[in-house]
Order: sequence, then C-alpha cells, then structure tokens
Amino acid sequence: MKKRKFIKLLVSTFSSFFFIPLSSLYATIEKKIINKSLTEEQKKIMFKEGTERPFTSSLNYETREGFYHCANCNAKLFSSNAKFDSGTGWPSFSEALPGAFKTKVDYSFGMKRIEYHCANCGAHHGHVFDDGPSETGKRFCNNGLCLIFIPSN
Ligand SMILES: [Zn+2]
Repeated sequence: MKKRKFIKLLVSTFSSFFFIPLSSLYATIEKKIINKSLTEEQKKIMFKEGTERPFTSSLNYETREGFYHCANCNAKLFSSNAKFDSGTGWPSFSEALPGAFKTKVDYSFGMKRIEYHCANCGAHHGHVFDDGPSETGKRFCNNGLCLIFIPSN
C-alpha cells in the first residue's frame, strides 16, 4: 500500500510537471463576456470573429484626441495619435498600445491574415496588415463596434 501511494504521488507530481506546460502550448486565447450590455452584433464580431459592414461606424469620422477602449472590458487599446483614414470603411490605426492585443493566424476566406484579440478579455477586434502608410508599416483594421472612444477633454 505504501509503495503504491508513493508511485501515485510520483506519477501525479511528474504529470503535473510535464502536462501543465505542454497543455499551455496548445491553449487558445480565452474569451469572456464582461460587458453584459453588448448587443447581438457586437457579440457576433467579438466572440464569433464577425465583421461589421464597412462605412457603418461613426468612429470612422472621429478625429478628436483621446483613447479607444475595448467595448467589452474597457482596456485601453489605441491612441488617437495612431488613427488614420485608410479609406477602407473601418477605423484604422498604425499601432496599438503596448501589450493591448494578442494575434493569431486566420485562414478563413482562402486568405492568410493576422487577426488580433484584446489581450485582456480575448475579444476579437480585427485584422492587422503590413500595408500601413506610416513608419510602423502596420494597418490595424478594427471593427468600430468593438471600440469605445473616450475623448481626452
Ligand atoms: Zn477587452
């Protein structure tokens, strides 16, 4: 009995040692709904990788100074300094605030694109492309419905 217990302990110690780091390798981005008043359309975009119709977001025309926050968890994602008019019909940014997003390769629609998710709550926000006009070379193409703009003044 004593020996069996010892082996059991040994196995559980080793399995926790080996399997936890292994399983974390395969962990996907965890998503959680924090804002209970999200609309169905917001949920579809943020949690089912949907896309809003272009030129539908009033944030396309937002030019005030301030910060863009996650509509689900309120994390600060972009500064207005990084916003530019890409002409695509979606709010576009040349860079995100440090650590704001996690990225993942998206192969849907026969294309290889990099999609990004809020690092805090896992909500999908958009795709990032390497054709931005500024020195970063990046174009974060963000669904307006995923953002809340908070002006500085
Ligand atoms: Zn978030």
